[in-house]
Amino acid sequence: MALKKRIEQFKESEYEANKDFYIGLKAGQNPHTLFIGCSDSRVDAETLFQASAGELFQIRNIANIVPRQDKASDHISTVSAVEYAVKVLKVENIIVCGHSNCGGCAAIRKPAEDIKNLPFTGEWISQSLPVSDYVDREYPDMSEEEKTVLLEKFNAVQQLDNLMSYDFVRQKVESGTLNLQACYYDIGSGDITVYDYEQKSFY
Ligand SMILES: [Zn+2]
Repeated sequence: MALKKRIEQFKESEYEANKDFYIGLKAGQNPHTLFIGCSDSRVDAETLFQASAGELFQIRNIANIVPRQDKASDHISTVSAVEYAVKVLKVENIIVCGHSNCGGCAAIRKPAEDIKNLPFTGEWISQSLPVSDYVDREYPDMSEEEKTVLLEKFNAVQQLDNLMSYDFVRQKVESGTLNLQACYYDIGSGDITVYDYEQKSFY
């Protein structure tokens, strides 16, 4: 469907049917959650979490990565959105959502030579190379397919640790005013599992 047609359809059906709601959005945003997900077009936060406009502040990037504090100045787009969500919007939750069949995570597993024509992507995803190395070290007998799934899951969990490298995040988590969670969306089955810190697994 052409873009113009879709825009018209939004205004004529969705907007008109929910006009008061959309007018109300003018007053400002008060999202309860910062959603950090992959840029993958299949990972649609509002659909997955059954949320409406105004509920989720979002960061989408390849392989849902949060740069660690010592790398922040190299990747300020992502970090500024975290800063704004936590300090200004005062979100109560940060959800990092990994997903199956993630092209970004698959690329992390490839030799650097294979993605040398994607220098920006290569540099970005290299932030998660230590997670991939961890999977190789801890699960040497797994198939490549299984290792990639583990990387998709552990990579989401790693981002919670990366978030905690920022004082403004850690202080709020420690004072109980900010809740961090990792989840994993299995494309196809529609299952979304949430990471349990005590069990160290997704349920
Ligand atoms: Zn992805």
